[in-house]
Amino acid sequence: MAYDFDLYVIGAGSGGVRAARFAAGFGAKVAVAESRYLGGTCVNVGCVPKKLLVYGAHFAEDFEQASGFGWSLDEAQFDWATLIANKDREINRLNGIYRNLLVNSGVTLHEGHAKIVDPHTVEINGERHSAKNILIATGGWPQIPEIPGHEHAISSNQAFFLKELPKRVLVVGGGYIAVEFAGIFHGLGAQTTLLYRGELFLRGFDGSVRKHLQEELTKRGMDLQFNADIERIDKQADGSLKVTLKDGRQLEADCVFYATGRRPMLDNLGLENTGVRLDKKGFVEVDDLYQTAEPSILALGDVIGRVQLTPVALAEGMAVARRLFKPEQYRPVDYKMIPTAVFSLPNIGTVGLTEEEARDAGHEVQIFESRFRPMKLTLTECQERTLMKLVVDARTDKVLGCHMVGPEAGEIVQGLAIALKAGATKRHFDETIGVHPTAAEEFVTLRTPVGG
Ligand code: FAD
Ligand code: NDP
Repeated sequence: MAYDFDLYVIGAGSGGVRAARFAAGFGAKVAVAESRYLGGTCVNVGCVPKKLLVYGAHFAEDFEQASGFGWSLDEAQFDWATLIANKDREINRLNGIYRNLLVNSGVTLHEGHAKIVDPHTVEINGERHSAKNILIATGGWPQIPEIPGHEHAISSNQAFFLKELPKRVLVVGGGYIAVEFAGIFHGLGAQTTLLYRGELFLRGFDGSVRKHLQEELTKRGMDLQFNADIERIDKQADGSLKVTLKDGRQLEADCVFYATGRRPMLDNLGLENTGVRLDKKGFVEVDDLYQTAEPSILALGDVIGRVQLTPVALAEGMAVARRLFKPEQYRPVDYKMIPTAVFSLPNIGTVGLTEEEARDAGHEVQIFESRFRPMKLTLTECQERTLMKLVVDARTDKVLGCHMVGPEAGEIVQGLAIALKAGATKRHFDETIGVHPTAAEEFVTLRTPVGG
C-alpha cells in the first residue's frame, strides 16, 4: 500500500526533530507535527532558557567578588523583565532556526495537535495523513501533586514567563529542576526556600556531591528544608500564599514552584486507537529498538521515560532514523556512562557510578577526593569550596565514576566522560599531564585514596 509518508513524527522536540531530519536525509518522505513550539521542551521551557537564567543569576556573585580584584561598582541593579525579554528574543531566534532546519532538510511541517486515528493514520487540523511508521516523540509535562490549593502553584512552564521576580519563593522538590531554579531565584535576589520531602536532595547522585552542595547552598544563605512537604496552599487577601506543611508549620510565600517530576505527554494522542502499551509508570513501553507493542508505531525521548535528557533524546532519534532508513549504519544507544550536569550554583558534573552504586555492584572501591578553594576566589571573601571525587575499582584500576561540584563542572566532566567511555584507569589519569593553573587539573593529581 502507498502511504503519504514513510515516517510521521509527532512532536518537534529534541528527539523528534533529530529523527525527522536524519530520516529525510536518508531519503525518506517525512512529516513532523508540532502543537506548541518548535524545538520542544529543551529550547522553549527547558535547557536553553534555564541556562540563560542561570547565567543571569551568576552575575550576582561576579559583582560581589569583583572588588577583590580592584573593581568598584555602584550597587548592582537587576531587572527581571529585561532578562525575560532578552531570553524570549533568543528563543524566538532558535525557533526560526529549527523551522529552517526542518524545511531545508525536506521535512513537511504540520503545525497543530496530532492525533493517531489508527496505526497508520494521523489526524491534524482536520486532515488525515497515512504513514508507514508513526514516531511518538511528544515529550513530558510537569506533574504537580493534587494537594488542596495546588492551582496556586506554578511549574517550570510558567516560571520562564513570570511578569516579576517574586520576593519570596518556595521551591518544592529535590531533583534537577528544583535545585536549578532555587539557585536561579536565590541568585537573582529572591528570598528562596527549597522544600524536599526526603532526608537529602538529589537522590541518586553521589553522597559526597549531595552533602557538598547542601553545605555550599547553606553558606550562600539559601533556606534548605528537608523532610518537609506541603499539605495545603491558601491564597490570602493580599495575594500572597500561606503554605501549611504536613508537620503543621506554616510558611508565607509570593510564589510556590513545584518541580516534582514530569509525566509523559499523551493527552488526546489517540493511543486508544492503537495497540501501544504503557509501562507501570504510564510511559510508552518500547523494546530496545524503540518499537511499541503496535508494529507500525515507535516512541523515543521523555515519553518513554528512560533518561530524560536532551542528548539522550537526540541519540535515540538518530538510532531510530538509522534503524528505519539506513540499517547498515545502525548502532544502539549506549545508556552507560551518560554524563550529566545540574546547573545549580555551584554546578554539579557527574559521569559513571556513584560510590554507593559501585559498592552495591560489588566493586572493591578506592575513593579519591579533593576539596579546595578555587583560585579565583583567593582574592575575595567568598568561602565556596570545590569538590572533586573519583570512584576507582581497586582490583582493575578502572575509573568507575567522576563527580564534581564547582564552577564549570559540566564543562569539565564532558571531557572526562570520553576517558571513562574509553575505559580509562586511574593510572591513565595519573599519567596525564595537568593544564595549569586550572581546577580541572586536580582530577589528574589525586594521589592518596581517602582513608588510605
Ligand atoms: P520534547 O522536547 O518535550 O518535545 C516534545 C514535543 O512534542 C513538544 O514540542 C510538544 O509540544 C510536542 N507535542 C506533544 N504532543 C503533541 C501532539 N499530540 N501533537 C503535536 N505535537 C505534540 N535536559 C538536558 O539534557 N539538559 C538540561 O539542562 C535540561 N534542562 C531542563 C530544564 C527543564 C526546566 C526541563 C523541563 C527539562 C530539561 N531537560 C534538560 C530535559 C530535556 O528538555 C528533555 O529531556 C528533552 O526536551 C526531551 O526531548 P523530547 O524530544 O523527548 O521531548
Ligand atoms: P526529578 O525526577 O529529577 O525530581 C523530582 C523530585 O520531586 C524528586 O526530588 C522527588 O523526590 C520529588 N517528588 C516527586 N513527587 C513528589 C511529591 N508528590 N511530593 C513531593 N516531592 C515529590 O524531576 P524534575 O522535575 O526535577 O526534572 C525532570 C527531569 O528533567 C529530570 O529527571 C532530568 O532528567 C531532566 N532535567 C535535566 C536537567 C539537566 O540535565 N541539567 C535539568 C532539568 C531537568 P524523591 O527523590 O523523594 O522521589
